[in-house]
Amino acid sequence: MNTLKGSMNHQKLVSIFRRILSAPTAPFHEYHVRRTIRDLLTGLPHVSTQGDAFGNLIATYKAGDTPARFCFGAHMDHPGFVRSPRNGKWDFLGGMPPAYLDSGAPIEEFGDFAMWRLPAFELDGTRMTARACDDLIGCASLVCLFHELARLGVATTCHAVFTRAEEVGFIGAIRLAESWPFSKSVRFISLETSLPMPGAMLGQGPVIRVGDGQSVFDHVVTGDMATVARESGICHQRALLDRGSCEATATQFYGIPSAGISVLMGNYHNCGPNGRIEAEFVDLSDVKGMVNLITQLVVRSGSESISQLRLAARFEERINQHRVYERATAARFL
Ligand SMILES: [Zn+2]
Repeated sequence: MNTLKGSMNHQKLVSIFRRILSAPTAPFHEYHVRRTIRDLLTGLPHVSTQGDAFGNLIATYKAGDTPARFCFGAHMDHPGFVRSPRNGKWDFLGGMPPAYLDSGAPIEEFGDFAMWRLPAFELDGTRMTARACDDLIGCASLVCLFHELARLGVATTCHAVFTRAEEVGFIGAIRLAESWPFSKSVRFISLETSLPMPGAMLGQGPVIRVGDGQSVFDHVVTGDMATVARESGICHQRALLDRGSCEATATQFYGIPSAGISVLMGNYHNCGPNGRIEAEFVDLSDVKGMVNLITQLVVRSGSESISQLRLAARFEERINQHRVYERATAARFL
């Protein structure tokens, strides 16, 4: 089994998040984020990138012959304004209550798309604020994962997909699942940002999702994440985050066993208090926890499920411990 030496350097992690979260984006206009991710992965040992036919960016870390068990996914878009191909006017793509859309908040144009005019990225203590945490936090976490695997020189294989057009209905993830370019044994894990809810609080660690608003996730992968978090001492939560749905619902629908992890976020989709458009924010310790969790998951996973191995050992131990009682009473059940 591989071992993990230390966690990621703080300055390096922050610089990766700053660059990715500063890149402007909107549904179907993910090219700035995509280029930034590609730049940050270029030249890393054992890492290669390629686009698929839809424009999703696929990254692979491969050192040695161990087959991949996981493909992580994060989406590169964020709700925003895009120039209509029909009439040239702004269309807003993504989930947003009409009252916020009509608030008259200023926007910032980037050619054929626009975002709310908000600070691109700020870090104040442990609070990370950005106009688009959703889901650039997931994208940046995956870039950090690849940097960590390369730094540690881990002998394994692992995939990640940076998808397009999630906010309008998982289109990139659907295209990925339809043309699944990996082995059938590879499991999909969605990285997301989500609304806090009772039992899942901001600042209490990344959330291992039992499911989302539409699906219950693969119990083996979910169990593996919980086992790795527990055994690595990573502060985490486990909850059904059913106030939204993630790409794991799409990939699972197409037959790929899937799971999800979320970092909890304030001002979801830029909807602040009192109808105001605000920057989204997350807690840096939750973000570091997510990077640490996915890194540990890849580093510690062998060819078999770690949670199923632990369960098998525990069940056998319980049976053996109590066999004397079983024997002593067996005659009464004949
Ligand atoms: Zn979203």
